[in-house]
Amino acid sequence: MIVVKFGGTSVGDADAIRRAASIVAARRGRQPIVVVSAMAGVTNALLAIAEQSARGQLIGAIRSVEALRERHMQQAELLLGDSPECAELCSEMSAMIDELAHLTEALNTLGDATPRSLDAIAAYGEQLSSQLAVAAFRKCGLPAEHVEARDVMVTDEAFTRAEPNTDAIAEAALRLVAPVARDGRIPVMGGFIGATPRGLTTTLGRGGSDYSAALLGAALQAEAIEIWTDVDGMLTADPRVVEGARLLDRVGFDEASELASFGAKVLHPMTIYPAVRLGIPVLVLNSRRPDGKGTLITFEAPRRGVTAIAGKSGVTLIRLRTPRMLLSEGFLRTTFDVFHRHRASVDVVATSEVSVSLTIDDASRLDALLPDLRELGDVAIERNRGIVAVVGAALSAGGEHMARALGALRDTPIHMLSLSATGINLTIVVDGEQVSPVMRRLHEEFFHEGAPVS
Ligand code: ASP
Ligand code: MG
Repeated sequence: MIVVKFGGTSVGDADAIRRAASIVAARRGRQPIVVVSAMAGVTNALLAIAEQSARGQLIGAIRSVEALRERHMQQAELLLGDSPECAELCSEMSAMIDELAHLTEALNTLGDATPRSLDAIAAYGEQLSSQLAVAAFRKCGLPAEHVEARDVMVTDEAFTRAEPNTDAIAEAALRLVAPVARDGRIPVMGGFIGATPRGLTTTLGRGGSDYSAALLGAALQAEAIEIWTDVDGMLTADPRVVEGARLLDRVGFDEASELASFGAKVLHPMTIYPAVRLGIPVLVLNSRRPDGKGTLITFEAPRRGVTAIAGKSGVTLIRLRTPRMLLSEGFLRTTFDVFHRHRASVDVVATSEVSVSLTIDDASRLDALLPDLRELGDVAIERNRGIVAVVGAALSAGGEHMARALGALRDTPIHMLSLSATGINLTIVVDGEQVSPVMRRLHEEFFHEGAPVS
């Protein structure tokens, strides 16, 4: 059995859904189980509808609901033509959209969108896309069978970011999903959504369809999980910055996790953890280029010195110096308390006995933070800094890779350095405008033409 998950752009319109069908058809022999996201942009639209109606803008909200109806009907007609199947699907989808419209009116009356009602509304995206996919797959000759995600993905009541109950999910998956696949049919389920034991609709948090796929794969001990998206996989660097960035065949889970904090928006590694942890390989593939090799993410990966270079600018560096820090226990705690109180998330940290430097992404909290920090010692703020990260499973094994990384930065002012606790991420804080040139220099050092990637 394999789990085949299609993201929003991979089911974004009739053509994409047809491509998805042929990808599934090519995997018939492996008992594919399909998980789909909402069509691209639909979850955002649904959440906007909820906010709008709760704010009293019912007419605008209903207009957006009707636009969603239009979009889904149109794609259904493109896929199924003028046929009884199309009429049946359209009346089913139309009934769902009517419910959605009623919910929208209810939110408008209440004047409030609670997490519970946000989930009830957001869930329509995957409910619609999964029905659409089933009908389209059947039209392409695949014996697709809709599986109601809310019967399988059992969660707690933490609406908008519900925690899955893995035992209950395993039980339901074995009962409702596995027999369908074993029978030669193709189960198709919406990702992202679940339900509490008493039947309230929940969602697993944004981007949650990958999580659904991983949970299902783990529950069924699938051979592999394929995440079909709109990029080729993970690369040695952002190709918009580094010309000649290369596709990575294989990446370790811990490496992928370090890279994810740099907006490598391929997927969030934590969402696939339930599967990777069990040794189930996860492949990231491009549905526009189904013959590509993609990137394989596994728990253990080849121990390369350097796997990828990442970077971001717009970072603020804060330096705090105080003689009081010397020998005083609890100082770091007091410092981080300030950030916690102001809800400012700290990214990189380096400390010595008398100073601590750290970076934050969101400088909007700075004015509020500063007076509290100044009570602790001398504070210096450096805006417009950037972070470059060198990530590799064997980065700190032996001195060679570190020496080469720093050697490549010989003429660049470095404002801070930090090696992750895992030893696989060397983070370098440089001037904001140096981020791209530094990334290119490091990439050239480690991935120059002819250098092996894996
Ligand atoms: N449709 C949901 C979202 O956009 C879940 C997903 O696509 O993974 O967040
Ligand atoms: Mg999405």
